[in-house]
Amino acid sequence: MKLTGYNKCQHCGEIFKDANHNTAKLNNPSPCCGATNESRHHWPTLDVLILIGLVEKQNLDDFKERKVAIVFVATLLEMLLEETVTKLAYKHCNSDTAVEALLDSYQGRQKRIALFNKLSGLKMKELLNNNGFTDYLFWWEAISTLRNKIVHQGFYAQTEIDVNMTIRNLLNNSIDVFALLNNESNLLQAN
Ligand SMILES: [Zn+2]
Repeated sequence: MKLTGYNKCQHCGEIFKDANHNTAKLNNPSPCCGATNESRHHWPTLDVLILIGLVEKQNLDDFKERKVAIVFVATLLEMLLEETVTKLAYKHCNSDTAVEALLDSYQGRQKRIALFNKLSGLKMKELLNNNGFTDYLFWWEAISTLRNKIVHQGFYAQTEIDVNMTIRNLLNNSIDVFALLNNESNLLQAN
């Protein structure tokens, strides 16, 4: 498992790249808000990093291993989306029960994206397009559809997309995409 070089500031919640580990020393100010003596956590979480490692290990030319990669890549994207939406939900309500109830009533990728839009006042599609991730939602939807087929039917038939390329594109962009979504939501003022 390798780290992404991204850290999350525990003071302001911003995710920043720190490839040279300059902020490993707590008396060095964080680049986002200048906080010192605040712990900075590696980002994303260990669970997500483990899944990224598992997807990277699969031989995508092998049908069985490709299925594993599809399931895990869809899962890790859901975990990243949940992290972002949960954080946004806490900007609107500070009760754990309310946040939990809100997330429970918006299950699934599409509903969670709609919840992101609603809570942030942003449009995820526009935000991604404007930042050069034009096809990201298309790839994501394609892989989610395949994941659902695998989970419910055990296999998927022919597809119109290049599955291996789609998996690689999603994996290569997921950290930058979710760092962007996190940081854009981070700018919003709490209600
Ligand atoms: Zn900060």
